[in-house]
Amino acid sequence: MFADLHVHLEALGEPVRAMLDNIADCGVTHTALQVLTKYGICENLAALYWKTHYDRMHVYAFGGLHQFDCFGDIPYEEQAEALLELGADGMKFLDMKPDFRKRLGKGICDPSYDRMFSLLEERQVPVLIHSGDPETFWDPDWVTDYHKKVGWFYGDGSFLTSEEIYGEVFARLDKHPKLQVTLAHFFFLSNKPEEAVRVMETYPNVRFDLTPGGEMYLGFSKDIDFWHDFFVKYQDRILFGTDSNANKAINASLNTFVRQALTHPRQEFTGNCYGPMTIRGLDLPEDVVDKITFGNFAAFAGEHPKPVSADGFRAAAEKVYDCIRNDPEQADSTAWLTEIRRA
Ligand SMILES: [Zn+2]
Repeated sequence: MFADLHVHLEALGEPVRAMLDNIADCGVTHTALQVLTKYGICENLAALYWKTHYDRMHVYAFGGLHQFDCFGDIPYEEQAEALLELGADGMKFLDMKPDFRKRLGKGICDPSYDRMFSLLEERQVPVLIHSGDPETFWDPDWVTDYHKKVGWFYGDGSFLTSEEIYGEVFARLDKHPKLQVTLAHFFFLSNKPEEAVRVMETYPNVRFDLTPGGEMYLGFSKDIDFWHDFFVKYQDRILFGTDSNANKAINASLNTFVRQALTHPRQEFTGNCYGPMTIRGLDLPEDVVDKITFGNFAAFAGEHPKPVSADGFRAAAEKVYDCIRNDPEQADSTAWLTEIRRA
């Protein structure tokens, strides 16, 4: 058994199958599709669709909120409830990634999220939140040209600071101590060991995932003995992830890289994480690795994916279709919907 918690779609149809094959070929048995509805109105439907149309792995779907499309005015708690009824296994939030946070003009501490987080806490629904980004994305001397080009340089004064982002997340976590939440990309704390410990100690229902950001592994390598002990101590609250998606040619190498980081002896080795990267292995015992690569996922997301409501799915597909069928910008989504509505 092997679980990858953190996988995205970035496509709707057959390219998703090819990606899932890619992941299954790495030995993954359980995977969770994390919806980022900023890529399209159909993404929740696609994630649910692939739960029932892919049989080489157990596929889970973490739904995303509609915020900029024709369903954007529906209160978040109603959206979450509808997704869970349809068969979503959890919820994913990109809302605290600095560029998305800027576009939203509000963070997850905003009152519009109150009822939804209460519902998710009450029902113990697993939640994955991307909060912040590597510190270098705020630093004009360190940010790469690539990250500038994709809009991930946050140092021009128009974005929240890293501290402000963390503050908003903590405000939400403080209100919902029983919320079952995984903070993606190790909460970008591998350069702040003391803060990582503080978060783990303060919020017992918080977990971190290991999805690269390769900078995370460079951070671990700076004090590998400390991080080895951290992983052993918090072995029940760290989860494997890759950020695989249908547009990436490197899904398999990301899987290999994270595995190597967990198991390799503490001396340096060069792996492939968005290019060659020299890091130290965490040298973890096998039982700890087993938890990180499966047991913790099962405890968090469930041992089996939730069933999808076929009637609910059909009705939701009709609703989305009605909303976009006359919109030329939604041609790809409309074509996919037309195809699955026929099937
Ligand atoms: Zn991601």
